[in-house]
Amino acid sequence: MSFRRLDDVDAKGKRALVRVDFNVPMADGAVSDDTRLRAALPTIRTLQAKGAKIALLAHFDRPKGKRVPEMSLRLLVAPLSHLLGAPVSFADDCIGAPAADAIAALAQGGVVLLENTRFHAGEEKNDPDLAKQMAALGDLYVNDAFSAAHRAHASTEGLAHLLPAYAGKAMEAELDHLDRALGAPKRPVLAIVGGAKVSTKIELLSNLVTKVDMLAIGGAMANTFLFAQGKPVGKSLCERDLAETARGILAAADKANCHVLLPVDVIAARAFAAHAPSRAAPIDAVGEDELILDAGPETVRALIGAMDEAKTLIWNGPLGAFETPPFDRATVEAARAAGARAKAGALIAVAGGGDTVAALNHAGVADQFTFVSTAGGAFLEWMEGKDLPGVAALQASAP
Ligand code: ADP
Ligand code: MG
Repeated sequence: MSFRRLDDVDAKGKRALVRVDFNVPMADGAVSDDTRLRAALPTIRTLQAKGAKIALLAHFDRPKGKRVPEMSLRLLVAPLSHLLGAPVSFADDCIGAPAADAIAALAQGGVVLLENTRFHAGEEKNDPDLAKQMAALGDLYVNDAFSAAHRAHASTEGLAHLLPAYAGKAMEAELDHLDRALGAPKRPVLAIVGGAKVSTKIELLSNLVTKVDMLAIGGAMANTFLFAQGKPVGKSLCERDLAETARGILAAADKANCHVLLPVDVIAARAFAAHAPSRAAPIDAVGEDELILDAGPETVRALIGAMDEAKTLIWNGPLGAFETPPFDRATVEAARAAGARAKAGALIAVAGGGDTVAALNHAGVADQFTFVSTAGGAFLEWMEGKDLPGVAALQASAP
């Protein structure tokens, strides 16, 4: 993938406008999870080492174009400064004199956090005038917010066309790994798609069948596929109205020579509750009063067999109701198998999705995967094969 990288930039004395994702979860006025702050540190430190003056652009929450004091980024100055081990100043606006003055006051390597970009209505409208006012503050632009790259906003897209644009370190890692998984992967590629509903992942499944060699379908969405093939699903979560859609996806897979793995057995219970009595059942033998809550042992065995065949794995969506034990078993076993193979260098394993990340953490193997994307919506749109405006703008800016 071609885009400008930070390693190649001569940033000494230059003003770098760095778009980060600081849309962190807060509880009682404090940051409850600082993952996103830490994710920006490699980029900030790289630019510090190069002697740049660093101005951070970010949005927080949904102020809808108005100044909402509770959505000020000022709250993040202290935790960011603490993590960085260096002072961070703050500017009351992301454009105009407050921002320009704060940036002018920076020494080389200095860092200022600019106020919430979404305090301006033009941000979400990708208003060219707002982008121009931002561009006036800097000599170069760095986008390190892959998780905001599916939105064409002034600070994520418009601005990239007005200054030399670079991918930050986190963005670079994300793009390189995603490219390794679907762009130009080592084959065969196995995709595992699970989760709750087919309806939220129709585009994703339709795109994957054209790109991967094997597609394993799990989670409650597999119930819809089983139902579409005339199998009994009892009281399981199942989108009966999508049976035709499911058959269409299977036909598209067939046409594209994508081998689909559906469950051959399941874990069924009479109640959706922790430690409810359950049994492994072949897919022909689910009772009318039962719910399918996890993939069965034969299915997991087949899935691990597919991992042994594959050189690349891309995973979104848990295989069962993993938050409710013991229905985490298939997800945990498959995750451990993938993690072990990735760690041994036998498999490139990339995963993403809110609940998928939680499931891999639950299995204790997230750090064994080649890459785990925490980008949520942007990751899913990328899996759907869509162009991400923030990424496209970086590519357009490449020499
Ligand atoms: P992600 O956030 O990783 O994209 P999804 O949101 O699509 O994943 O799906 C995750 C949810 O699917 C989890 O809450 C999980 O409990 C649920 N799920 C998976 N399998 C089943 C099942 N058999 N029955 C009910 N819920 C399920
Ligand atoms: Mg989810």
